[in-house]
Amino acid sequence: SKAMGKNTYSLYNENMEAQLEEKLLIEKHLRNAIENDELEVYYQPQVSLSSGHINGVEALLRWHNPTLGFVPPDKFISIAEDSQLILKLGEWVAQTCIEQLQIWQQTHLANLHIAMNVSSVQFEDPDFIDQISNMMKQANLPNHLLEIELTERTVMSNVSDNIVRFNQIRSSGYGLSVDDFGTGYSSLSYLKRFPLSILKIDKSFVDGIPKDDDDKSIATAILNLAHSLNMHVVAEGVETIEQLLFLRELNCDFAQGYFISRPLPIYELEEWLQLNKG
Ligand code: C2E
Ligand code: CA
Ligand code: CA
Ligand code: CA
Repeated sequence: SKAMGKNTYSLYNENMEAQLEEKLLIEKHLRNAIENDELEVYYQPQVSLSSGHINGVEALLRWHNPTLGFVPPDKFISIAEDSQLILKLGEWVAQTCIEQLQIWQQTHLANLHIAMNVSSVQFEDPDFIDQISNMMKQANLPNHLLEIELTERTVMSNVSDNIVRFNQIRSSGYGLSVDDFGTGYSSLSYLKRFPLSILKIDKSFVDGIPKDDDDKSIATAILNLAHSLNMHVVAEGVETIEQLLFLRELNCDFAQGYFISRPLPIYELEEWLQLNKG
């Protein structure tokens, strides 16, 4: 009826208004998050499926605000991207990861690398690579200790600019991985031309392993593709022993997920690494 239609419309409107309000509130608080010391980097281990050894860790940003409480990155990252705040946050994450790598250089963790998520907004900044390289140089670190994670979507947009920048990144020694692989639209001919080091199989395909035949076929296809192009594969979101064993059977190189460890604050990560040596 007409009345119902009107009702639905106003509900929808109210909902949009509430969403906008929430977004503005998050943006307002996020603006001061660094100064107020509200951010933290958590680290999630990636293990080699052939040796069981830790290969590296992925850095994942955490934000706890006194008013808003814990806000998940899936909520605040896109808001930070819309407002350019991501540039400041991304620089803070890079600085924090690089300081951590520097601390590890004096310890038995000197070979551990960090994979860092880089938003398309950050990556499109022409100063991005120089900025990172300056920080690495100042910290006296070899570039291979840092891996740059771009989503498949970022990798496949601006392909002509990207080829140049990917070559620059790889020839400088950094790792370069494609995150959430399988959820975007990859052109196979670009995939072949890009000097990528890692494909990360998206969690949505790992979820169905080993029960869902389609997910198993997709995971198998991604592994064959990556290996034939000389890339390594990380399976993300591994939550069960069955998934881990199946992926190992397929010669998947690395696994990451709650079955191995949740993302951990630095002290817990170091404790975890101590307990899981060898
Ligand atoms: P992502 O890069 O795909 O990161 C993987 C997400 O899956 C993380 O969520 C991680 O905590 C979660 N995860 C890992 N293993 C499992 C598992 O076994 N099961 C389940 N259910 N989840 C698992 P998180 O930390 O909430 O981050 C969400 C997204 O936010 C990330 O997705 C990434 O796109 C973005 N993000 C996080 N930190 C940063 C950052 O420093 N910079 C940028 N640009 N984006 C970030
Ligand atoms: Ca990632
Ligand atoms: Ca991912
Ligand atoms: Ca994701």
